[in-house]
Amino acid sequence: MSKHHGKHRRGQSPGETGASASQRDVSHRKEAARGKADKKAEARRAGHRPPSAAHWAREAESRTTAAGETIDPRVAPAAAGIVTVQPGSRCDLEAIDANADGGLDKEEAKAALVTERARIATLQERLYAEHKRSLLVVFQAIDTGGKDGTIRAVFEGVNPQGCRVWSFKVPSAEESDHDFLWRYHAKAPARGMINVFNRSHYEDVLVVRVKDLVPAPVWRARYDQINYFERMLAAAGTTVLKFFLHISKDEQKERLEARIANPDKHWKFDPADLVERRSWDAYQAAFADALTACSTLHAPWHVVPANRKWYRNLLIARTIADTLEAMDPRFPEAQTGISGMTVPD
Ligand code: ADP
Repeated sequence: MSKHHGKHRRGQSPGETGASASQRDVSHRKEAARGKADKKAEARRAGHRPPSAAHWAREAESRTTAAGETIDPRVAPAAAGIVTVQPGSRCDLEAIDANADGGLDKEEAKAALVTERARIATLQERLYAEHKRSLLVVFQAIDTGGKDGTIRAVFEGVNPQGCRVWSFKVPSAEESDHDFLWRYHAKAPARGMINVFNRSHYEDVLVVRVKDLVPAPVWRARYDQINYFERMLAAAGTTVLKFFLHISKDEQKERLEARIANPDKHWKFDPADLVERRSWDAYQAAFADALTACSTLHAPWHVVPANRKWYRNLLIARTIADTLEAMDPRFPEAQTGISGMTVPD
């Protein structure tokens, strides 16, 4: 952790030095009061209050599509070692050890990963054949957090026909001309599919907030909008699995230095990453707020200790395999009379 960690309040830029502490306090109080009023006004305009925990519990029990079909997207508990943010409780990232290894060594974890990958491959075939429900796996992390490496390690061996990976960058002109969820919804999984989001709709409450790309009332309103979006996906039979890859600031430094030292990794290094690193605290605050506001019963956030890549990969693969198992996809009923048929010459 940086020695400055924790000193910055929500919305304060880590490089900020100009204003005095008391001026800042007053302006933060004003901003907080304005934010509260904005939120209330927003809720009044939208004509709704945020749903209660009991509401989410009822939602989780059963879901009926427009076609009258009841679909249960099933959310399984995460693998031991992952910290799931309990809906309604505050996510404290500083309290989660990014260095954890569950008492495993690298070789044990790698062997266990092979088993989990085989489970995923078998269950994915059934999900694809069943063609009723789908799985959306969301990865968020700070730069160098390991999203690419996780996707490579966990989905190796999965039939590419049933899996799509989407990476989200700075929105194009066309994407920016739409509501912020438009480009993500377009890439949500079809029935039978596993889709992976490498960055996601959460960027619109993370980088957008840290870099002040839209006014605060706009990004604040997005937490509720994201919850409704994910709830809608769940109601349509999509299980939503969200992983935050939690690395320490020291680990990020090592990973950036390794990229600088290895010419083969220079394509992965952008000097702008060093500028972004200065906003470490602001990003951690934005992650904690997003994970707090958007961990719901139907789409909880899972915080994965991610300094040790082999432990991270195992925990994520195991959680995906357990989730698919809980979904219990079934091969469709075969037509009768197939056995014994003859194939004409
Ligand atoms: P990655 O770091 O995921 O491997 P890049 O180096 O191309 O890929 O970075 C993608 C960039 O796009 C990141 O800096 C990220 O913050 C930015 N980005 C993604 N979504 C948005 C968004 N909605 N608004 C602004 N920037 C975004």
